[in-house]
Amino acid sequence: MIDVHCHLQQKDYDNDRDEVINDLKKNLKAVITSCAHPKNFDLTMKLIEKYKGFVFGAFSIHPIYVKEFPSEEREKYFNLLRENRDKIVAIGETGLDYYWIKEDEWKEEQRKLFVEMINLSKELNKPLVIHARESYEDCIYILEKEGAEKVDLHMFGGRKLLDRVIKNGWYISMNAILLRSKNHKKIIRDTPLDRIMLETDSPWLNPNGGRNTPLTIKVVAEKIAEIKKIEFEEVWATCGKNAVKFFNLPINL
Ligand SMILES: [Zn+2]
Repeated sequence: MIDVHCHLQQKDYDNDRDEVINDLKKNLKAVITSCAHPKNFDLTMKLIEKYKGFVFGAFSIHPIYVKEFPSEEREKYFNLLRENRDKIVAIGETGLDYYWIKEDEWKEEQRKLFVEMINLSKELNKPLVIHARESYEDCIYILEKEGAEKVDLHMFGGRKLLDRVIKNGWYISMNAILLRSKNHKKIIRDTPLDRIMLETDSPWLNPNGGRNTPLTIKVVAEKIAEIKKIEFEEVWATCGKNAVKFFNLPINL
């Protein structure tokens, strides 16, 4: 009922965004759109205001854009987020991406940016949404070292580290990668339901190809029910409750 991670400000929705969101409103309770680049700040804020109580926003500079944002540019953007703290439900997606960024000096800069984001989330008292690619070990090490408490690991695939994630009280949000990845299936099998949230990463990761929409959380919930051998309704309701609690959303389920 709540897609905790999609990207409705992406250009894929430019031609029919209102239609898509109105359709979502008939089927879901809320969506959290992840604004990963400062150039999308204005559009994301407009969506949050226009669809108040349905579209919520997480904001960050995604680690793959680290090269575009030197320190002083980052600080300017952080100030904008500080000014808009009441309209933001989370800081993210932030983290480390060693798949797209391979040079050591830029990996180091990503780690710096990541720590800045963690500090901002503490300052604003907002949860963190984490993107990690080929960097699970470093991500978890930094989150632990910085004492991050409210953490959602988006599309988490670091199975060897799952025990630490659970022990730390963190959450995992899962999307349709679950339909094809054995690794992610095992992670869902071994994660308690009260730590799982539903997401789609739309417009990406449509299990049928083409553009994805947040409606796909239903397919994800069905798969979780199958893996955990429990009823769909239990997954649907519990993951929704988890999302309201984790992101402190002002909605009634
Ligand atoms: Zn994403």
